[in-house]
Amino acid sequence: MALIVHKYGGTSMGSTERIKNVAKRVAKWHDAGHQIVVVPSAMSGETNRLIALAKEIMPQPDPRELDMLASTGEQVSVALLSMALLSIGKEAVSYAGWQVPIKTDSAYTKARIQSIDDKRVRKDLEAGKIVIITGFQGVDDGGNITTLGRGGSDTSAVAVAAALKAQECLIYTDVDGVYTTDPRVVSDARRLKTVTFEEMLEMASLGSKVLQIRSVEFAGNYKVPTRVLSSLTDPLMPLEEEANSGTLISFEEDTHMEQAVISGIAFNRDEAKITVLGVPDKPGIAYQILGPVADANIEVDMIIQNQSVEGKTDFTFTVPRGDYAKAMDVLNKAVKEHIGAASIAGDAKVSKVSVVGVGMRSHVGIASQMFRTLSEEGINIQMISTSEIKISVLIDEKYMELAVRALHKAFDLEKA
Ligand code: ASP
Ligand code: MG
Repeated sequence: MALIVHKYGGTSMGSTERIKNVAKRVAKWHDAGHQIVVVPSAMSGETNRLIALAKEIMPQPDPRELDMLASTGEQVSVALLSMALLSIGKEAVSYAGWQVPIKTDSAYTKARIQSIDDKRVRKDLEAGKIVIITGFQGVDDGGNITTLGRGGSDTSAVAVAAALKAQECLIYTDVDGVYTTDPRVVSDARRLKTVTFEEMLEMASLGSKVLQIRSVEFAGNYKVPTRVLSSLTDPLMPLEEEANSGTLISFEEDTHMEQAVISGIAFNRDEAKITVLGVPDKPGIAYQILGPVADANIEVDMIIQNQSVEGKTDFTFTVPRGDYAKAMDVLNKAVKEHIGAASIAGDAKVSKVSVVGVGMRSHVGIASQMFRTLSEEGINIQMISTSEIKISVLIDEKYMELAVRALHKAFDLEKA
């Protein structure tokens, strides 16, 4: 017997029919003798619908009231799922975040979980009940309802699993696991049986949107074994088979020998590049350029400063494409007011492609293999950045798919 947390995404909770299927699956696990806590998302489309309603009334909705509203989607889900379980003869009880309570800070719309009280939940579990807790929401010290940011139910589930020291957190979703790359780009992309949480963190932040990135951080910090698996299978499939399906996010210590050097190719299509030309090369210049960008709440990713020639240098960095116009505005102002650069150039049609793998720590030659592959395809590399387990390049958007396919093949990722 083990304590296991299940998380179901919006698609899995998308209709009463689907909720009944979730109930069947949960009941199967409970019947096998496990203690089960379920953390569902709102029914698909519901959070968007609520936010749209808010904007009809107030174009920039008040954050506290927006959380009050957006959190209701999950309250609907937990109650319906609890009813679905009760109606098939299982004992179940649902809770909103504040009833547990799941304590967060007060940063409305992007709150962080601070603590989870496990007493009430444990008591129910010991009484044989299935406990259902709203994803995405919590309560701050002042008793105000908060939400954790879009996609936050993943984080709720992993945090609940950490607080209860669950044996595993199963994230049921509409994909059947984590792939070597997006199967829509490379048709022979392969599902990974395991991936380390560090690799998952890189892949999540590099644009593979299977899990909310904060949930992966949580899984890593609290060592919660987390599995991504399909909710679209037959809910009554054999439990053993289901328990071993999908992708397990593991910890490097348990990674077995046959782990490939490279686990996946991640990409982010929507990047933009900005170059400030002819900047005086003197202390403080990087801060003068990037400070105003950070103040505008724009995330900077790759950064290059060229060798200076006659006291002048060029400074290039990337931002998300959606922030490109704003970043250009901010910089144009900063350059006029105090930076004294010659000019600013930008390109909003660039993409980032990355190879990710913990095996890079112990293998040399990965970067050269990557660069050779891109050169054989005639793809120009505009910027490069690396971490211990990742090499990223910035390229022209029109070659992104080609680069991903070529790299997937060069690193033999289609082979098990
Ligand atoms: N319902 C919330 C959203 O749509 C949270 C979640 O689904 O994880 O963002
Ligand atoms: Mg989600």
